[in-house]
Amino acid sequence: MLKVHDLCKTFDALPLLQGISFVLGAGETLCLLGPSGSGKSTLLRMIAGLEPPDAGQILWNENDLSSTPAHLRDFGLVFQDYALFPHLNVFDNVAFGLKMKNWKIAEIGTRVAEVLDLVNLRGFDHRKVTDLSGGEQQRVALARALAPRPRLLMFDEPLGALDRALREELLAELRGILHRTGIPAVYVTHDQDEAFTIADRVLLLHEGKIVRQGTPAEVWLKPDSAWVAEFLGLGNVIEGSCRLQSGKSRGCEVETGFGIFDVKCGHLHRAGEKIHLLVRPRAAAGESNKIQGRVADVLFQQDGFKVRLDNGLYFYLKDEPKIGQKIEIKIKLECLE
Ligand code: ADP
Ligand code: MG
Repeated sequence: MLKVHDLCKTFDALPLLQGISFVLGAGETLCLLGPSGSGKSTLLRMIAGLEPPDAGQILWNENDLSSTPAHLRDFGLVFQDYALFPHLNVFDNVAFGLKMKNWKIAEIGTRVAEVLDLVNLRGFDHRKVTDLSGGEQQRVALARALAPRPRLLMFDEPLGALDRALREELLAELRGILHRTGIPAVYVTHDQDEAFTIADRVLLLHEGKIVRQGTPAEVWLKPDSAWVAEFLGLGNVIEGSCRLQSGKSRGCEVETGFGIFDVKCGHLHRAGEKIHLLVRPRAAAGESNKIQGRVADVLFQQDGFKVRLDNGLYFYLKDEPKIGQKIEIKIKLECLE
């Protein structure tokens, strides 16, 4: 079991990661999600043993790995740029780590065939890796990482170089492979759709810290901060100021640029306190809070229309409104603090 405890890293006097702690459960796929430059690759490189942390520990089954070099950690790595050996064919790329570990020739042959099967590349043994498509090259990289039976797999934006359809296909396969093999994995990406598809649990990195963690559903339902809601694109995030404390019900009247709303939340807000509200883009029948606006733009989407109002807010509607039409939408407001 991987345990990361209070990890810190500073580059050029700028703290990049501060007090990062998490535990990876057996067979779990954990996704580190954060914008470009948030330190995801650095964190992965530290776990891999390719970069020393400034402080903190990385433990495997409670054993500190600080003196275990990368090649003895038994962790498999898959990068965005495949990092295959261009002069070797598929078989030799996949067999590389096994030869380094002095596996017997016959066992290498069996294992390579097994993992090529697993990644759907049966019969590709003698192909030159430079002749393969991006998706096929990434399958080879995955097979190479799987071959020595690592105790942990790590992925650094592995689908970043592939086009959308291929990304979706490979992601679904990867999900299946991770579940079937039961190998725990740390998966790094800046793409929330990818993270939510592959992850059992997501960790959101922002300004050097883990700002939110949970299952995809938990994070989606309760982003808990304006930054997380905006980064995940959960809806409209608007600012407001609390006007009244409406007593026992633990809520308040919030004045915003879009109207005055009654917001029920578990927080105790002071009068005058500035808060952020999430307005989900799907209308919520039965709610008393409403937003009005004129339709500024309508975009067709698979299951309806994405409608932008002149006040800057957007919603998904079933029926197509007319540009310029004044509409009113019942909304559910969530307090993000
Ligand atoms: P991410 O993978 O989330 O995009 P990285 O971990 O690659 O983020 O890097 C975050 C920042 O850390 C980069 O913007 C870079 O400035 C800095 N950084 C990474 N590695 C080094 C290094 N070896 N020396 C100096 N700065 C570095
Ligand atoms: Mg990176």
